[in-house]
Amino acid sequence: NGIPTTHIHTLSSPKPKLNGHSPYSTPALQIINDEKQFTLSGLSPGSNLNDQISAWDLRDVGFDYNLVAVFGSQSTGKSTLLNRLFGTNFDVMDESKRQQTTKGIWMCRGNDMNVLVMDVEGTDGRERGEDQDFERKSALFSLASSEVLIVNLWEHQVGLYQGANMGLLKTVFEVNLGLFGNKSQENANQRTLLLFVIRDHIGTTPLANLQTTLTADLQRIWDTLSKPVELQDRKLTDYFDLSFTALPHKILASERFESDVRALRGRFTNKSRDDFVFKPAYHKRIPADGVAFYMEGIWEQVQSNKDLDLPTQQELLAQFRCDEILTSALADDPIEAGKVIDGLGEMMRSWRSQALSRYDSEASRYHQGVYKRKRADLAGTLDSTLSPLFLGQLKNLHKAALVSFKAETVAGLKVEGYNFADVVIKARAGAEGRFSDGAREAVVAEGDAMWQWEEELRLLQDEIRSVADQLRKDETKKMINAIERSFKKQIAEPVDVQLSRPTPLIWDNVLRTYTETLATSEDLYLSKARSFDCTDDENDEAVTTLRQRAWAALRAKIDEQTADTAILTKLRTYFEERFRYDEHGVPRVWKPEDDIDGTFKKAKDATLDLISLYAKIAPQDPDLAYAPPEDGEAESDAPGLIVFSETKALELGARFRREADAYYVEAKRSTVMGIAQ
Ligand code: GDP
Ligand code: MG
Repeated sequence: NGIPTTHIHTLSSPKPKLNGHSPYSTPALQIINDEKQFTLSGLSPGSNLNDQISAWDLRDVGFDYNLVAVFGSQSTGKSTLLNRLFGTNFDVMDESKRQQTTKGIWMCRGNDMNVLVMDVEGTDGRERGEDQDFERKSALFSLASSEVLIVNLWEHQVGLYQGANMGLLKTVFEVNLGLFGNKSQENANQRTLLLFVIRDHIGTTPLANLQTTLTADLQRIWDTLSKPVELQDRKLTDYFDLSFTALPHKILASERFESDVRALRGRFTNKSRDDFVFKPAYHKRIPADGVAFYMEGIWEQVQSNKDLDLPTQQELLAQFRCDEILTSALADDPIEAGKVIDGLGEMMRSWRSQALSRYDSEASRYHQGVYKRKRADLAGTLDSTLSPLFLGQLKNLHKAALVSFKAETVAGLKVEGYNFADVVIKARAGAEGRFSDGAREAVVAEGDAMWQWEEELRLLQDEIRSVADQLRKDETKKMINAIERSFKKQIAEPVDVQLSRPTPLIWDNVLRTYTETLATSEDLYLSKARSFDCTDDENDEAVTTLRQRAWAALRAKIDEQTADTAILTKLRTYFEERFRYDEHGVPRVWKPEDDIDGTFKKAKDATLDLISLYAKIAPQDPDLAYAPPEDGEAESDAPGLIVFSETKALELGARFRREADAYYVEAKRSTVMGIAQ
């Protein structure tokens, strides 16, 4: 069918000549066999890499050699390309026989060039699970050990994630980063060239477009890699250079294919070209005589790496556990009810440790780096899932503590002989204690910023303080009311008596009663207020209130006793005592010779003098002179010292005179009647 027959290498082929590097003269060595064994110590005599390096005359070249490998799907012409580029003789599938090539990783020396070329043979991984393992391992091995990795793909695979082996590339990138990504000082500048060779390029889509698509795909892969924490911010370009080329169809455009391949070969052979691929930065800096040992080491790491078995297993596991815990933790949303959940911390801690220990038991046998990284992810997810429950619990503890503080305090204030400060201190200690105990219990990870509750406690303390302040104000008010009532009761009788016995010292007596009773009341307030923890300002305010109310009470009493009827009765009584009775209290029986007019005038004038005595609160003792407390709420007619006005005094005088005149007439008439009898 026109496909040229290429040299087919077989294991049974005779040992090659060591000199004379004619094309295809050097057989390929199977460095990894289908049992996944490295051939350093030799699977069969003369077929181990160490010996072969010598046989290829490369043992003594030091750093003067290069290593290239290939990556790509089965039967995409990889071996064909390598053989043309490097003069190697890797097996090429014979289309006419459809023969199976021998699985393994093969190495061959480039013809007339110090290049070690690796080729991978295997069946397509997607067909059988077992081969998927080999496919991944061989790809990782190729990437990790070579300077240039040729990524071989059909043009029509570009943009197809699965078709172009992008999934495999992602896995390989990820594990490669985990295994070898942490560059030491020594190989800090070490990079790898990914040379994309697009096969069967028809030409309708320019290479530049294909290149854009592939670059974007690669970037996307890199961005979604699960990277080790310490390599989180590493970029694709920190590790890889990208280069792109295309080849026409080998059969449909065979001449151009051959010439383009020859041109491409120049990039591997001509050191003076700008696009020479083997840049010093890609070299692994392993002397040629150590390459076999070095590669065996890489293979061992690749082989023992369990992530490669199931690369997303940890991820799935972690995700699964997180989801599981998340679902169970939020299933009945225990916090929603707004109630404190007993033993929530215990519950959360056991969810967390169960989740982690299940993860540990299943994941710890995988690669330690990935295992630890995913464990931290899981722990983080668990914490951020549980944290809202913790915060909800704190809020509810806070609410409950405040409610219980109020209830306890109010109950304590109903107990006879309570001490306000003691009641509050006890209730506060109880409420804060319950909050702290509950909060401490709900902490999942001690010392972690996510599980702090001191701030919430401070908020609670503030609120308790303001509730206590309010309760104290209410209590103070009640106490002042009680003291006021008792004050009124105490002054009522003495002031009544004093006001009905008019003497020049009437106001001295009244004010003495007032000041003495007020002083007792103030003392009573202050002695009770001590248990309230009131501030000095609050005490001053309370005492002022007390004084205002006491004065108002006194004035009310005085006003009651000096109302028209009351004062007129007092005047009448005073007058009668002096006019109708003699100095011994005996009722007078007027005789014509008695000085009715003189007695009448004396009694009347003395009584009229009383009006001015009652009109103003004016003690004789200056020590008792009293300045009524200023009423803050300045009522327009705040009761001062004036009991009644001048006009009122005149009116009272006039009314009294009329009454007195009636007594006079009555007295006169009685003498006339006495004569008549
Ligand atoms: P490998 O499995 O990727 O190494 O592919 P081979 O090199 O063994 O080639 C597989 C088949 O594809 C052989 O029949 C080759 O002749 C054929 N082939 C090689 N190169 C090309 C090419 O560029 N285009 C096409 N269409 N076929 C090719
Ligand atoms: Mg092949």
